[in-house]
Amino acid sequence: MPLAAEEKILGLFKDSDALLQGHFKLTSGKHSEWYFEKIRLIEKPAALEKIIDLLVAKIRAEKKEFDVVVSPAYGAIAIGFLAALKLGKRFAFTQRVDEKMAFRSGFTGIDGAKAIIVEDILTTGGSVNEVIECLKLRNVEVAGIYVLVDRTGGDARIEGKPVGSLLSLKVEAFEPDVCPFCKSGIELTKPGASDKKI
Ligand SMILES: [Zn+2]
Repeated sequence: MPLAAEEKILGLFKDSDALLQGHFKLTSGKHSEWYFEKIRLIEKPAALEKIIDLLVAKIRAEKKEFDVVVSPAYGAIAIGFLAALKLGKRFAFTQRVDEKMAFRSGFTGIDGAKAIIVEDILTTGGSVNEVIECLKLRNVEVAGIYVLVDRTGGDARIEGKPVGSLLSLKVEAFEPDVCPFCKSGIELTKPGASDKKI
């Protein structure tokens, strides 16, 4: 992707406050320069729409045939729904029922359909894999997998299929004693704790 396009996407994520740059204490106890606040993505629909427009352009450019956009509950529902609306396709979501991913009951036109999967952030690929298993059970062909942010650093493949992403960012996390941001004396923030400084 050209640098200008990456910069634009990075700017949109920053505008939505979903991607924070600074010095953060993660729940693992490690420190990081970047922090994703997923809930921010759906908090400001107008900011999300600009991001979705770029995702939709990417999906359209690949000219894949599919009938339905499928997203896992809950964070990605708004994302997949908005993408489906703009693509003129149907939408369905999956959710965990007794820890097993399944379609929310009541959706029609699923069996034998062709689907693309839309997820917010790819970290380990766990929930996308669960969605794929769920699609197999309903005889749904996976025509494509798309995420807004690929935190694995790009070139991710799931079950041999490439994962299309708008932004690929490998987030490095440091133990506090070797953290370069601690060494630089940058104030540490614990995200999610009402943005309190710690
Ligand atoms: Zn640090």
